[in-house]
Amino acid sequence: MSKPELKVAIIGSGPSGFYVADALINSGISVEITLLEKLPCPYGLIRYGVAPDHQKLKRIANTLDTIAEHPSVTFLGNVELGKDISLEEIKLNYHVIVFCNGMPDSISLGIDGEQLVGVSPCNDLIGWYNGHPDYQEQEFDFEHDAAVVIGHGNVAIDICRILSKSIDELRSSDIPENALEVLSKKKLKRVHMVGRRGPVQAKFTTKELHELGKLSNCNVSLDPIHLNLKSACQQELDDTSNIVVQKNYKVMQSYASNFSELNDKSKTQISIDFMLNPKCFTGDKQLSSVLFEQTYLEGTPFNQTCKSLEGLIEMPCGLVFTSVGFRGTLLENLPVNEPKRTLTNQNSKLLGSDGKTVEGLYAAGWVKRGPQGVIGTNRECAQNTVDNILKDSPTLLETSVEGKAGLLTMLNKKNRRYVTFEDWKVIDNKEVENGLVLGKPREKFVTVEEMLACL
Ligand SMILES: Cc1cc2nc3c(=O)[nH]c(=O)nc-3n(C[C@H](O)[C@H](O)[C@H](O)COP(=O)(O)OP(=O)(O)OC[C@H]3O[C@@H](n4cnc5c(N)ncnc54)[C@H](O)[C@@H]3O)c2cc1C
Repeated sequence: MSKPELKVAIIGSGPSGFYVADALINSGISVEITLLEKLPCPYGLIRYGVAPDHQKLKRIANTLDTIAEHPSVTFLGNVELGKDISLEEIKLNYHVIVFCNGMPDSISLGIDGEQLVGVSPCNDLIGWYNGHPDYQEQEFDFEHDAAVVIGHGNVAIDICRILSKSIDELRSSDIPENALEVLSKKKLKRVHMVGRRGPVQAKFTTKELHELGKLSNCNVSLDPIHLNLKSACQQELDDTSNIVVQKNYKVMQSYASNFSELNDKSKTQISIDFMLNPKCFTGDKQLSSVLFEQTYLEGTPFNQTCKSLEGLIEMPCGLVFTSVGFRGTLLENLPVNEPKRTLTNQNSKLLGSDGKTVEGLYAAGWVKRGPQGVIGTNRECAQNTVDNILKDSPTLLETSVEGKAGLLTMLNKKNRRYVTFEDWKVIDNKEVENGLVLGKPREKFVTVEEMLACL
């Protein structure tokens, strides 16, 4: 007798969705997997978050293709849970539903002036220059002298790099032509990357921090005063667990030696500014400056809190991008942990509003553990989710469900134009073909309609 087949629906085809599918395939159980994705294209933030000038990293998508092409896996794009299909409808057809829908929203600062023209959460810019269909209405005016990026992590570095590279350098990325045209009007001379805390607390990785200093038409600098560390910060830096920070510190020392060169008007000046807490944005409709409080750190090593000094410092600028973290969206009344809106879960199993685990519902990736780690971190996270699914599978298999066949019947009844993986490959090939003509890795379709029309 053949083994009963576990029918699994995965919501979201970013790295975690793919890694859950892979771990299920490799588990040895008999399994049928449907990878549901709201967009017609797979890969989540690999396609729409990873910087467009980091093409080598984006190639991870090629290795994920083998997972989507496995006979146990069916990719169904252009199907959004909560819009095109409800959770109740999916539940009717599957033993297991794994939420891998990521954290698509930026956390806002909640300070005055955030609504001014010129102030944007980082997602708006990143989604726009990566060609995400949800962000194509965004408008940016890069004809200002100065931009401020608030945040000290790799996402902030990505933004500084894209804002500072010349248009010729950007042409070899996969930034879509419509965005390149707007970026070609760029007049930015100064880009400030500002954080509330000091060099030891910044969340950069060394490779990204170092890359910033290699840009051909930029000077990166920071005020050496910030490298004179107070005792608690020095102890944090010296701690053997802090190897990345020690490497970053060395890179920062080289940037501090550039400090006096800030007057080179022929280059874009990127300055890394520390110990500044944004208090409000000023301007009349259009942003004209950010007011910051200076801060200091109080406490013991690895347990320091940020306090503000009196008085405000004004930084004139026409553009601000806030990059202070991501949060999830509310979906189908599933309980979330505020403020990040991770799905409430215990050992990857979702909890209902009564605090008890809900049979058959699981999470993996950012929506499970929050916006941390690199792409590879999601593999381990997905394996952990699948280990928990496997423990529950004998009980789950007691119910009989139709799986993909039942879902397809529902989608066909709704006349939903879903996109298969073969369809996606048609879109993919066309994008690469269109890019070739322009000397780019690909020219993305930036609307869902364009993608569907290509089929
Ligand atoms: C700007 C940025 C740059 C980054 N750069 C790097 C980098 O250079 N290197 C690195 O290692 N990591 C990088 N990361 C981190 C990396 O992208 C994440 O670790 C990873 O993408 C998280 O995977 P995920 O599958 O949990 O979420 P996501 O990648 O966000 O995937 C979620 C998927 O779910 C889909 N979805 C959402 N809602 C629904 C719904 N209702 N129905 C159906 N589908 C839905 C989305 O469309 C998306 O495809 C970056 C992150 C960001 C934000």
